[in-house]
Amino acid sequence: MVRIGQGWDIHRLVPGRPLRLGGIELPYERGLLGHSDGDVVLHAIGDALLGGMAAGDIGQHFPDTDERYRGIDSAVLLGEIVQRAARSGWQIGNVDVTVLAEQPRLAPHAAAIRQRIAALLGIEADCVGLKAKTMEGLGVIGAGEAIAALAVAVLDRRRAGAPASARQPSARTRSRPRSR
Ligand code: MG
Repeated sequence: MVRIGQGWDIHRLVPGRPLRLGGIELPYERGLLGHSDGDVVLHAIGDALLGGMAAGDIGQHFPDTDERYRGIDSAVLLGEIVQRAARSGWQIGNVDVTVLAEQPRLAPHAAAIRQRIAALLGIEADCVGLKAKTMEGLGVIGAGEAIAALAVAVLDRRRAGAPASARQPSARTRSRPRSR
């Protein structure tokens, strides 16, 4: 059983905060405002995983009214979601992330971010897509007032009691006529 989930997030860029994206700290003069560390990339991935499981969203699981989550490293929150997925028998296939940011340039940090996300999810780095786009100067992101992220995730769960050799045939195989 394969599921797909999608998530997105946006946080305001403000002075006096470290910039955390994808679980690592980037050198920049401003950072993302949030009840947690404001890591939009990990929040979008967390929502994509929860969406794939049809298990609500980050706001429900980690409400910003809860003092336990004030200033928390979003890697901890994502870790709880990954554990929830594993407990329910879900394996993470791949994730694909698009970051919308006018600045800073992510290219120099892309490999490190992908490695970090892969480590947090327990998958290989080649299962983590990461793209960075500017907004061509348009809107609040284009004005450098915010950074947003979009993510999709694929989850796979074996049907209860079904060994790998007895998994459902593909739709194409099933729909093929039996006689010629
Ligand atoms: Mg968020």
